[in-house]
Amino acid sequence: MMGAICSSDMDLYNIDEIVCPTNEAGVPAKKAGDAFLGGGTWLYSTPHPSAKRLIDLSTLPIQHIEMGEDAVYIGAPCTLAQLRESEILRAWPAFGLLDAAINALSSSFKVWELATLTGNVCLSLNKCTTAPVLMLLDASYELRLGDELRWVSAAEFQTGHLENILRPGEWLRRIRIPFASLGGEGVLKRISLTEEGSVVALASAYPVPTGGFRFVVSAATVRPVMISFDSLPTASLLLESMEKAMAQVPLYADSHGSAEYRRAMALDLLEQCRGSLQGEAVA
Ligand SMILES: Cc1cc2nc3c(=O)[nH]c(=O)nc-3n(C[C@H](O)[C@H](O)[C@H](O)COP(=O)(O)OP(=O)(O)OC[C@H]3O[C@@H](n4cnc5c(N)ncnc54)[C@H](O)[C@@H]3O)c2cc1C
Repeated sequence: MMGAICSSDMDLYNIDEIVCPTNEAGVPAKKAGDAFLGGGTWLYSTPHPSAKRLIDLSTLPIQHIEMGEDAVYIGAPCTLAQLRESEILRAWPAFGLLDAAINALSSSFKVWELATLTGNVCLSLNKCTTAPVLMLLDASYELRLGDELRWVSAAEFQTGHLENILRPGEWLRRIRIPFASLGGEGVLKRISLTEEGSVVALASAYPVPTGGFRFVVSAATVRPVMISFDSLPTASLLLESMEKAMAQVPLYADSHGSAEYRRAMALDLLEQCRGSLQGEAVA
């Protein structure tokens, strides 16, 4: 059943229709000019001349946060604020890393009240701070296109700045984080030119509860770059390995920082993350 047309009274002048499906079967088949609407914090913040119809996913009856048998699931309508307040997630040591990722966004709590985690992931900005952490936590994404569902790993989702593997008409239904990944305490470091400014470089590291260590950098590159080790690497091994991995991915540059500056900052933050984990391992 097609959802109701809930409003045409909005200030994106080219939008003719907003569809608010009341169930998943009501998500209409893709047509030219469609855009999925999460919290709208990005969609409503900049012109989208090609968009004609918005399909509102925030009204779908999908659990915002739920415990499965072996994983936590975060549904499409779940906002960043709800995620931060979730008792289910707060019970896990890795909550601190998720919380740090949201705090690292250059947006304020006013945006977090509306913005969804899935919207942040699907926007796929190079400076997205949540996607790299979801990669560290071995998250996977349930994607829906019509009646077809598929799971993909967070690590393979984002392919570039504002680019990901979603097919036309496909949407991110749920994010799954396995319990087995939630038992560690990670570290996240980010830098921007001003205190609340756009993220120029980000690094994060995670001691995998089942063994090994994962490191990721982003914002310096067009998408996050993650590497893994069986044990905590030395500074030189980490640097060499990340330099090699980053060489496979285009660097990002804009008015907030040149490519070389961002790269150098990402590698510096990465070593700071390693140092933090080493400090904890020694303590
Ligand atoms: C002041 C400000 C600062 C910001 N700083 C940062 C920052 O530092 N880093 C960062 O990453 N972002 C930043 N953002 C962007 C913000 O985080 C995003 O606007 C937000 O996370 C997107 O969530 P949303 O639910 O509002 O998405 P929307 O604006 O509704 O949608 C964003 C995009 O994702 C698509 N989409 C949404 N949900 C789904 C879904 N479930 N399946 C498929 N596609 C979907 C939409 O079609 C659209 O293309 C900032 C925004 C503001 C206003």
